[in-house]
Amino acid sequence: MSRVVSFGSVNVDHVGYLSQDRIAVLADAHGWFPDAGETVRVDAVPAAVRDDLTETFLGGKGANQAVAAAAAGADASLLGCVGEDEAEHAVVETLAERGVTVDGLERVDAPTGYAAIVVDETAENRIAIVAGANGRVTPAYARRHADRLRDADCLLLQNELPAAASLAALDELSAAGRRPTVVYDPAPADGAERVLAHDAVDVVTPNESEAAALAELLADFDGTVVRTLGARGVAVETVDDSFHVDSPTVDAVDTTGAGDVFAGYLAAALGDGAALRAAVERAAVAAALSTTAEGVQTAVPARTRVLDEIR
Ligand code: ATP
Repeated sequence: MSRVVSFGSVNVDHVGYLSQDRIAVLADAHGWFPDAGETVRVDAVPAAVRDDLTETFLGGKGANQAVAAAAAGADASLLGCVGEDEAEHAVVETLAERGVTVDGLERVDAPTGYAAIVVDETAENRIAIVAGANGRVTPAYARRHADRLRDADCLLLQNELPAAASLAALDELSAAGRRPTVVYDPAPADGAERVLAHDAVDVVTPNESEAAALAELLADFDGTVVRTLGARGVAVETVDDSFHVDSPTVDAVDTTGAGDVFAGYLAAALGDGAALRAAVERAAVAAALSTTAEGVQTAVPARTRVLDEIR
């Protein structure tokens, strides 16, 4: 069984379907609200706004990818920080139920990371993200967990933690003899440059908009670039080879988090010693299947279903 460690974010997404009239009332009462189509980073969302958001989902790229790696059959753990609040209990319990080892999560004096996602009657999103505990992950945290990081067969990183913490984790690996394969998902692309430039990163998995934003760095990257192209599949470039893997045709109902399912399945397969092409093929099937159900973590297909589809 391959050991996959995801060092990344964990979030609670609060989602509400509100009319534009209700949004205007809340905006008036609180003096702010993201514009339609906008994603903003804020320090807090007023509790009264959160009360209007009736659905909650567990998310965060770090947590999503750990859940996908566990579904893929890996011994998956999540490293990162949560708050000392009510959300923390639900997060830790749910991740454990989904097969993720959570004993490395640390509690800090900040709220568990969350997002307020408001969808109006025209299906426009307004998103406010509070980094909370995710923003409190430090280089010292990475050093405290150096043994876990080094013992992994595959380490997953994303760009939702402070870059200094991810860089410290990579530095710990550089000092080690045996080290995991490092897969970096440069999402969101903004600020991903420094981690991408670290020698210890082996594989990078941008989607199309991330690949466009990071084009110059990717052209110089001396590892493997795995570009995910939605329904059009995956384009892989290694130092001496390039190939394309198709996505199976599916009836997609919700593509949110397909990239996370892809990364988690890819890590589990690479950690098991699978060849790159076989690992990408398996990850593409898993990601495509995940788009046929709503949600992210609840839509991750089980390993047996993915293997049946490939046979
Ligand atoms: P997200 O941001 O929603 O997590 P992403 O933008 O990071 O996703 P995509 O390139 O959209 O990543 O999707 C990742 C992979 O998921 C694709 O390479 C493909 O294998 C699979 N996939 C996504 N959408 C579809 C679809 N409509 N049909 C089939 N496969 C899909």
